[in-house]
Amino acid sequence: MQPRDLSDHVAYEAGRGIEEVARELGRDPDEFIKLASNENPHGPSPAAAVALRDAASSVSSYPKSTHTDLTDAIADRWTVDPAQVWLANGGDGALDYLSRAVLEPDDTVLVPSPGFAYYGMSARYHHGDVREYALERAADFAQTPEAVLEAYDGDRIVYLTSPHNPSGSTISLEAIEQIAEETDDETLVVVDEAYGEFADVDSAVSLIEGRDGFEARDDIAILRTFSKAYGLAGVRLGYAVVPDALADAYARVNTPFAASELACRAGLAAIDDDEHVERTVETARNSRAYMRDHIDSHVWESEGNFALVAVGDASAVAEEMQARGVIVRDCTSFGLPGCIRITCGTDEETERAVETVNAVLADLEIEVDAELATDGGGVPAATDSEVPDA
Ligand SMILES: *Cc1c(COP(=O)(O)O)cnc(C)c1O
Repeated sequence: MQPRDLSDHVAYEAGRGIEEVARELGRDPDEFIKLASNENPHGPSPAAAVALRDAASSVSSYPKSTHTDLTDAIADRWTVDPAQVWLANGGDGALDYLSRAVLEPDDTVLVPSPGFAYYGMSARYHHGDVREYALERAADFAQTPEAVLEAYDGDRIVYLTSPHNPSGSTISLEAIEQIAEETDDETLVVVDEAYGEFADVDSAVSLIEGRDGFEARDDIAILRTFSKAYGLAGVRLGYAVVPDALADAYARVNTPFAASELACRAGLAAIDDDEHVERTVETARNSRAYMRDHIDSHVWESEGNFALVAVGDASAVAEEMQARGVIVRDCTSFGLPGCIRITCGTDEETERAVETVNAVLADLEIEVDAELATDGGGVPAATDSEVPDA
């Protein structure tokens, strides 16, 4: 017995966990901080934590009314019809529902490179193929209609990520509208706003609903998650907001009870906990500004809860930082072997990360210089204008 041909498929590479790393290195987990997966440094919304404990005794029932209640609460939050809200097992689950709802075998999806791996993975699960558009490092990963439209070739889904993971760049609503306008009617533009709460840009829900001076469109869907700003990555809860035209497809594509009873209860509590989100966003703002000001290398301007840092040799720097107790994301798997991504931690965690990356950059100077000599890459002098290729 063999699975189908999965040779095109790749495994998702998650950020490494403290327990995993501590065990591997034979060290005490308390020595480590993890800034590798864009998790919330303040933990879950306290209200959600209480709701999870209270919900423990009701998990023998299928989540029927809580699923409806959470869908209604999210619809309220965005002022859309509840049928337009597709709850799912994480934002990733919502991506799967979108793939299932629109992809025919051999359809293609157009994804950013570098970018979030799951877009392509989900397409392949659903017998689709993956094409890429480049976000140029030399242009600070600027997201422009031109970058997307030049690569576009009738693809069924076009993915935009705003703020973009791993760079932190954003795309304006005008640019999204232009992309939707200049692609085919049957091309769905998915705007992934997993980090939307952290950014100073408006949600593209306005483009679906025709608000704020935009005309309503039926070819855009939005992705949102409770994993990041709400601190609920472990419960797996996310959703898509889709145009009316797609709303009915949900019933035909979703895995029954797409979000668990615990996830729905946590989500209901978290969505009203503005204080937790505000605190989280403020911490991220301070952290990314601190990183930009204090890291002795190029740090891209980010609107997310993370910052991308040019380090020359990402694997070596991430490994050495890890040995010194700070777990960060080596961006080689994103296609950026010269960069690491550091999640915004608490003030103390951010300071420790900055000290550590600076010390490692200084201590590894010889290797970095050697690389500079061989391929022109490597760590830039601390100027913002001269950014080497990955
Ligand atoms: C984290 C993330 C998601 C969704 O993650 P879930 O935990 O599945 O909700 C989606 N897109 C991007 C770019 C992300 O970084």
